[in-house]
Amino acid sequence: MQGKPSFLGSSPANLIFPHGSPPPPGETIEVAPGILWMQLALPFRLNHVNIYFIDDGQGWALVDTGLGDAATLRAWQPLVDGMLRDRPLTRIIATHFHPDHVGAAGFLLRQFDVPLYMAATEYLQSLNIHLDPGALEAEHYRRFYLEHGLDAETTRRVVTSGHAYLKLTSGLPPTYHRIVAGDVIRIGGREFDVLTGGGHSPEQVMLRCRGEKLFLGADQVMAKISPNVSVVAVDPEGDPLGYYLRSLNALKTEVPADVLVLPGHNLPFFGLQVRADELIAHHRHRCALIREACRKMPRSGAELIPFVFSLKLDPHQTGFAFSEVLAHVNYMLRQGELRPVATADGIGRVEAA
Ligand SMILES: [Zn+2]
Repeated sequence: MQGKPSFLGSSPANLIFPHGSPPPPGETIEVAPGILWMQLALPFRLNHVNIYFIDDGQGWALVDTGLGDAATLRAWQPLVDGMLRDRPLTRIIATHFHPDHVGAAGFLLRQFDVPLYMAATEYLQSLNIHLDPGALEAEHYRRFYLEHGLDAETTRRVVTSGHAYLKLTSGLPPTYHRIVAGDVIRIGGREFDVLTGGGHSPEQVMLRCRGEKLFLGADQVMAKISPNVSVVAVDPEGDPLGYYLRSLNALKTEVPADVLVLPGHNLPFFGLQVRADELIAHHRHRCALIREACRKMPRSGAELIPFVFSLKLDPHQTGFAFSEVLAHVNYMLRQGELRPVATADGIGRVEAA
């Protein structure tokens, strides 16, 4: 699943948490007047996702939906029959295409005839998987992983991830409402500026509230975890880490330092700038580990995994680790810190430049 973040990020320091613990299952916490925070369960090591209800006059604008699996849809039913009966959803804003954020949208939109707001590449990415969940199984893509030294079992898991995606989503509506960086969305009495950033997903949407110190940051900046930043086989020379670092630096200038960050996972917090700097330092540290490993001998993406991830990884985690290591390798190639090396066994390797 593309959305799974890394748990090996730096730990939060100097962050202020206005709420010491999340709301109990099925309940909400009002994090600002008319903005409700709820958590939905995820059946992963990262066991929850945050969703937000924003007062939109006659009802609620929903930011993110949780998964579209049976357990999450069961969790939604009492809300549909309860708090949303008199004050229904007015629209759904999905911050990005990962199943924990847009997975229940199909289910909800079959009950509420409202628009789905998404960035174009996020909607199209999800649509693409829905239309062709087996696309990555093509020999061309399999070869990409194998040529970077990944083992056959992990490769098999990675290229079949589209089928897992469909199991975790409840469909997409045939039309959507496109949002673009620079848009202003009016929700109830508030205006939100749309910001987007790459790295974790192609065009992740974030919302900065004008007039109030609020920032819905999705998965871009979270208190405890660093979002997974991965190279994907359809863009083998892509630079998601470069996009992510660019986005973090942009947030430091475009969003006031004293906002309350309402993230996609973990607790809401104050300390956006501190956390952005920690995340930047975290990735610089990983680059340093790779540089050191490649100073002694050329290494492939797969061979670099243990230098970056010291824990023993199962095949599922190995797939994420590999794609994340490759994001650092591609970034360092672009920065001129690494260079590709031809090796006799057909595996692509890099060495320190
Ligand atoms: Zn997420």
